[in-house]
Amino acid sequence: MLVASSSVISRSKVFSTPITSSDAIQSHVGQIVQCLLNKCSCFEVLVSLMSTPSLTVSARGATRLESGHLWVYRSDLAKVGDIPPGSLVHVQDERGRKLGSALYSSSSQIAIRLLTPAVITETQLCQLVRERLGRAVQFRQQLAGDTDSYRVVFSEADLLPGLIVDRYNDVLSMQVLTQAFDREDLRKVVAEKLAERFPGSSLLDRVDPHIRELEHLPKRESEIAFGNRASTVFCLNSVRFHFAGLAGQKTGAFLDQRENYAAAARYAQGDALDCFTYQGGFALHLARVCSKVTAVDSSRPALEVAEQNEQLNRDSHTCGEIEWIEANAFDLLKDYSSAGQQYDTIVLDPPAFAKSRKVVPTAVKGYKELNLRAFKMLRPSGVLVSCSCSFHLSEAEFLEMMRSAAADAGRRVRILEKRGAAIDHPALLNVPETAYLKCLICQVQE
Ligand code: SAH
Repeated sequence: MLVASSSVISRSKVFSTPITSSDAIQSHVGQIVQCLLNKCSCFEVLVSLMSTPSLTVSARGATRLESGHLWVYRSDLAKVGDIPPGSLVHVQDERGRKLGSALYSSSSQIAIRLLTPAVITETQLCQLVRERLGRAVQFRQQLAGDTDSYRVVFSEADLLPGLIVDRYNDVLSMQVLTQAFDREDLRKVVAEKLAERFPGSSLLDRVDPHIRELEHLPKRESEIAFGNRASTVFCLNSVRFHFAGLAGQKTGAFLDQRENYAAAARYAQGDALDCFTYQGGFALHLARVCSKVTAVDSSRPALEVAEQNEQLNRDSHTCGEIEWIEANAFDLLKDYSSAGQQYDTIVLDPPAFAKSRKVVPTAVKGYKELNLRAFKMLRPSGVLVSCSCSFHLSEAEFLEMMRSAAADAGRRVRILEKRGAAIDHPALLNVPETAYLKCLICQVQE
């Protein structure tokens, strides 16, 4: 009922000991010897290596790379000549020490994203992308278990910075985030490898116009890259969802929450409220264990899909019809808490409030208001599942905000689980920006 209301990171050498100039020389020599063995022309390799642009990074940039981070900001580059957008570049420090090969963006503040500590050619770049894609696919297939949908490639975490690929059953959805992965040769490599690893599937090229603008890339429409399907039905924890690949938000669904949906359903019971439900991710899982489910979102199109998803799963629901409410969750929580409404289970999964470090204090206020009201509305032993996907808000800050909300609500709360994104969205320890999702499952005490 819809109502209106108010890469796997292998133990590669990427993060190994600093590379000395003699390493770089050995690497060049190694490549030449390899070429001789392969009976191909050393001359071509030398020309290719020499024609690859070089970039010098400041001492701060070099330290960052040596600590295992993959990004160098524009402010940490020495003068940049006329380097074509999306080029492979060789990176060196101010003393000429080779730090590896990276992908260059002429517009992003993240000017280079390191690919490998080796000095590689354009031909080797294509081979590297092919290999890393293969490893990313294999890693996910190992983890997949009973799901037909997961993130196949997660950018930096698979050492393919700027490339996202999600699998929804028989439809793959690709998002290109950088100039480099927008290059036709790399698009071709990616499409060929995915076609080989997922025979019979379609590939969608999902365009985010905002990202293309930021990367100074020409306008492009979302389209089917191969195959003939743009939509399908997919399954997470045996809950079924519609996927319409050329509509909707993000890459179609929030796959990073897959394991949190299952975890929430382990503790949920009684009357449940799912705020910021989108297409019903949490609500549909709660509907299998709760006696009543209400779900709120400000987007009517998202709720319409949620209602269709409900129809796909009706047979397994323990509650009556889910109540889908189109409303601002802040207003609804305020009204319901003033009216003395109570719940046994509440889920809060708002959009990222902290889009930059500067706005973290305002974002914290927003998160706290939501959680404070939720804590107040929970019956004794009630469960709150609270998420934040702002990477600018650290886990420590998130937990402190939750503590402060519980204190102000006058509730003593025990932590049941501290969770993050699903295992197909691994984070890089050395790149803290890749760990963004926090999910706290907690229970108010009597
Ligand atoms: N929980 C969802 C994902 C939520 S994404 C899932 O697991 O699939 C964030 C959602 O918040 C979006 O659907 C967006 O439409 C909604 N939203 C943003 N601001 C809102 C507000 N003030 N009130 C209600 N919903 C809001």
